[in-house]
Amino acid sequence: MTAADRRTLFRTFTEEIASTLAALDRFAEFQEEASGGPACTNWRQDTKERLADLRAAVNRMDDADFGVCRECGEDIPPRRLLAVPGTTLCVACKSEQEHALAIP
Ligand SMILES: [Zn+2]
Repeated sequence: MTAADRRTLFRTFTEEIASTLAALDRFAEFQEEASGGPACTNWRQDTKERLADLRAAVNRMDDADFGVCRECGEDIPPRRLLAVPGTTLCVACKSEQEHALAIP
């Protein structure tokens, strides 16, 4: 991963953290007025998990092995990290792992 890629990822992650926190704030205000159903609870849970992934990614960005697949040592494409900030596997290793798990 290049230094420019790293900067772009960092900026994108921190922006998304800020907008996600704002969304959660709005949600809390909204919930005071209306009772949140299961759909709202799921959204909040998903959003909190995404937030945790983003924060973990930002915390790991200074590590030398950030963006490096822990199985094969190849670079994980920045686009994949944007989609799945918490990932430590490249697409090939991830699908291999899922395939292995799928075998009974
Ligand atoms: Zn890999």
